[in-house]
Amino acid sequence: MSDDCIFCKIAAKEMNADIVFQDDDVIAFRDINPQAPTHVLVIPKRHITNPNDLVEGDDALIGKIVRTGKDIAAKEGLAKNGYRLVFNSGEDAGYSVLHVHLHVLGGRKMEWPPG
Ligand code: 5GP
Ligand code: ZN
Repeated sequence: MSDDCIFCKIAAKEMNADIVFQDDDVIAFRDINPQAPTHVLVIPKRHITNPNDLVEGDDALIGKIVRTGKDIAAKEGLAKNGYRLVFNSGEDAGYSVLHVHLHVLGGRKMEWPPG
C-alpha cells in the first residue's frame, strides 16, 4: 500500500469503485472517465508504481492481469468483435495514475495507430 495512491485505496476498499472482478492478487473496476463503451482497469492489489519497475518475479502477476483482462472482455461480449488491452507508461503515453494498470477497452471501432 502506497500512501496517496488512489488505486491502492480502491484495492483496500477505502475508495469506491464499480468493481467487476477481484481475487487475492488483482482487482478490476470500471474507469471513472470511460473512453469506450467498455473501459475497465485491471490492477495488481500490490502497489507497483510503473511498468518500468517490473521484474521477473512479477511475471505471473502480470500474466494474470492480462488473462483477467481477456476474461472481462469475454464477459462484456467483446471476444468476437475485438477489444484493446493497453498498459501506459510515462508522460508520452499519458500515464497519470502511478500504479500499474491494464486498460480493457472495447465496444466501438478503434483507430490504429492510437492517438
Ligand atoms: P492512465 O492514463 O494512467 O493510463 O490511466 C489512468 C486511468 O485511471 C484514466 O483512464 C482515468 O480515467 C482513471 N481514473 C483516474 N482516477 C480514477 C478513480 O478515482 N476511479 C476510477 N475508477 N478510475 C480513475
Ligand atoms: Zn498503488
